This record gives sequence, C-alpha cells and structure tokens, in this order.
Amino acid sequence: MKIYEKILDIAKRRGIFYPSCEIYGGISGFYDYGPTGTRIKKNVEDIIRKAYLIEEYGNFTCSEIECPTLGLDDVWNASGHVKSFSDFTVECSACKEPFRADHLVEENLKISCDGMSAEQLTGLIKNNNLKCKKCGGELNDVYNYNLMFRTEIAPGKNKRIGYMRPETAQSTYIAFKRLWEISRKKLPFGILQLGKSYRNEISPRQYIIRLREFTQAEMEFFIDPDDKYEYLNLKDDAAIKIMDRDDKISKISIREAHSQGIIKNKAIAYFLQKSVNLFVRMGIDGKRLQLRQHKDTERAFYSKDTWDVEFMSALGRIEIVGVADRGNYDLTQHQNCSRESMEIFWNNRRFVPNVIEVAYGIDRPVYCVVESCYAEEISGKGEGGESDESKEIDESKERAYFKFPPEISPYVCVFPLMAKDGLPEKAGEVVDVLRKANLYVFYDKSGSIGRRYARADEIGVSYAITIDYDTLKDNTVTIRFRDTKEQRRVRIEELEKVVK
Ligand SMILES: [Zn+2]
Repeated sequence: MKIYEKILDIAKRRGIFYPSCEIYGGISGFYDYGPTGTRIKKNVEDIIRKAYLIEEYGNFTCSEIECPTLGLDDVWNASGHVKSFSDFTVECSACKEPFRADHLVEENLKISCDGMSAEQLTGLIKNNNLKCKKCGGELNDVYNYNLMFRTEIAPGKNKRIGYMRPETAQSTYIAFKRLWEISRKKLPFGILQLGKSYRNEISPRQYIIRLREFTQAEMEFFIDPDDKYEYLNLKDDAAIKIMDRDDKISKISIREAHSQGIIKNKAIAYFLQKSVNLFVRMGIDGKRLQLRQHKDTERAFYSKDTWDVEFMSALGRIEIVGVADRGNYDLTQHQNCSRESMEIFWNNRRFVPNVIEVAYGIDRPVYCVVESCYAEEISGKGEGGESDESKEIDESKERAYFKFPPEISPYVCVFPLMAKDGLPEKAGEVVDVLRKANLYVFYDKSGSIGRRYARADEIGVSYAITIDYDTLKDNTVTIRFRDTKEQRRVRIEELEKVVK
C-alpha cells in the first residue's frame, strides 16, 4: 500500500476525513471532515486567524470579515471570472468521458501547455492522434468549461443570476469602501476572510487536495503603491529551495532571497516567510517545503508578481499558499463596472489602493499536516507498565499514529486508570476543570490503559491525563506527553496552566 493510500484508509477509519455522500455512491470532489478531522481543521484555521488578527499587532491592523458565498453575476463579470475562469476540456466522442485537455496533452507529449489556446490544444490532440484514456475513442474539439457553479436567485421578475464564489477575495474587494471607512481611513490595513469557495473542477482527485467545495483563508493587504514596508521585518530564517520564473533554483533563506532581488517585493517575501513558519508550526515537514514563482505565462496579466509555497507530498507537488501582488486591478475593475469610486485620499493624493493577496487553502494544509505527522511503529513496544497491557499493544505490530503538535492536536484525553473505586467520578472532576478552561476533552474509560494511550496516539492527541489511586489521596494526575513518553505528575489546580 502506498503511503497516501494508508493515510486515506486511516483517515476514514479514525474520523479525520472521508468521501461525502457515501451511502448514495458519493460524488468526487466532496469530502466530509469527521469528528477528529474537524477539530484538526479548526485548529489549522485558528493558527492562520491568530497569525494575522493578533500576531501582526504593531505591524499593521488586520480584521476578519465574513461575506455570503453566493454572489451576483455582476461581481463575477467585473472580476473576469464569467469570461475566463475556465479550464480547457475535451470529451471522448464514444464514452463521453471529460478530461482536462491541457493535462492530457502534457501527460502524453511531455510538454508544457501554459498559455496555449483551445485551438492549439485541439491541433496537438489531432496531429499526435491522442485518444480517450478510458476507451481509446476519438476525442472531440477542446472547449472552455467555466468552473463556477451557476444558479438563480429569486423567481419571476426578481430573478437574478448568481454564482457560488470561486474565491473569497472578490467579496472583500466589493466592500472596500465601507472597510476603508471602518479602518479609520488609514493605510495599510489587512482584511482576512475564511470560508467556503466552490470550483466545478473537471476531474477532482487526490482526496481533499482538489475539491469542488473547499475552504480558503484569504488576506487582502490594502496598501499605498509607494509603500516601502518599513514596518515589516524579515527574520533570519533557514535556507529553503526557491525556484524563480526562469526555473533557476537557489537554496537560500527568504531574507537572503529578498536582499539578492530574487523576491523583489518585501511584503511578498514577508508573507512567504510568515507562511512557511506557520506551516512548520502546524506540523508540516519544513524540509519538504519550497517556493515557486509563477511564470509569465501562468500569471494573470494584471499581477506584477506571484509566488507559491509548495509541499512535496507523496501525492506530488501541492500548492498551499499563493502570495500575489495584484496591483489595483480588482478595485479598478469594480470601480468601472459598479461606477462607485474606489479612490481614497491618503498622503495628500487621490488613488485606488494596491493589494497584496495572501491566499491559503485550508484543506490542503490539513492534508499536508496529516501526511507530515503520520508515523509508524513497526515493532510496537508496549507501554503503560503492566505486562498484560504491553502484550495487547505488541499484538497490533504495525502501529500507525500521528505526531500532531499540541496546537493541532484534536483533544486532550482524560482516562481513569480503572473504571471503579471512585476513579471515574474523580476523572469527571478533571473533565469539568478542562472544559471550563475551554479545552476539547475526549474521555475514555474502556479497555486497558495501554490500549487507551494507543487509541489517543492513533488520532494524534499530544497529551493524555490519567487519574489513578494517588489522585484520590493527593489530588494530582499524570500527564503523558505522546512524543517523549514523559510522564509528569501535576496538581489538578495547575492542570489548566500546564496544558495550555
Ligand atoms: Zn472514451
């Protein structure tokens, strides 16, 4: 079994993520997060949320907003999505199977299709006699398939065409003037929006990597075009693989890449560095992260520069955040289409602000955390001390578990050593203390203590708390740290402080 197949198998069984709508046969591109996965995902979201709303304090003000996921066609006409948010599609004339035309050509001819037109792709398919991957049938002409879900809002004369948003950013842009007022008319400021977006992908695959409904966290950083970003400080950081638009590879720190002019814009360098640090904090393997600059052919025409952070996973290269200098294109488009001015008066000038956009996927980092933290213990040495329990763990031989860092860990576990002699009642008091401290508690009193530790490891719990006979005497409990297997005796009154 390949590593990602094992991970999917475990993710399903342990309630991390699994295909949606399974009883009706499922539909690709939709996944559920189970009880454990939902906690992990919320923790990933919270790390990003706090990193901008709280931790940027002193550098710039950043606030969070939440907008509807269904938007009027006016918005998506102005943004250019109705016209050009599409993928090249080709269908088999015999079995009707659809394919991404550019992917099909790239796979077969080992060439890059960046910047090609539908006609060019059709030409390549015909001239090279490429056939349907499923049945070997003839392929039809390549066409553009719009990736937005289209719908109708209201009946009769009130009917409007709407689209499920393919990104959160546009709903932030259209509220810019109000956000400017609320932000006390001062640049720079950031607006973060976390929420669902929708893309009607032609062939979604790779579990939660390419979904038709997914979660994003996009931070729009509104700036004066002359901003030199003196208030953003690049830290000393470790060397990382950096690929520029000409495929030149350097292995240097992001700070160094900025001073050498490889990453020209300081704000882009800053948000790339911040993102890499956030991913490592989540438990993503930093050695498998790299930076990649978009080539001229893949970059939107209005974008001055775009960089991605990518994770080299068992499934291939996964883009987990994109940082783009979007100039003032979006606000100008909405100004032109809505006829509402997006100009502001700042620093004695009147202008439409520029935007640096930091766009995180959430589902993708969740997958990368799960893959990075996956661990196997082949010889499964028993633990917990008592011999019969050790034996029980030994029997499982190949023990798979997750080394999530505490910030990602889904729960704090509480175990009474035995399900008798007043221990469950005492454990109930401990659960009360932790719940009152706003912690997510998983209480388990069934099976041997070793087996319960093993179950906690299987869902990546960082700390487990055990209530034993000493607890009844001196009000102390044992905290067991998963990674070090260290056990520490702590007074119940101090528990909240120690765990937090
Ligand atoms: Zn076919």
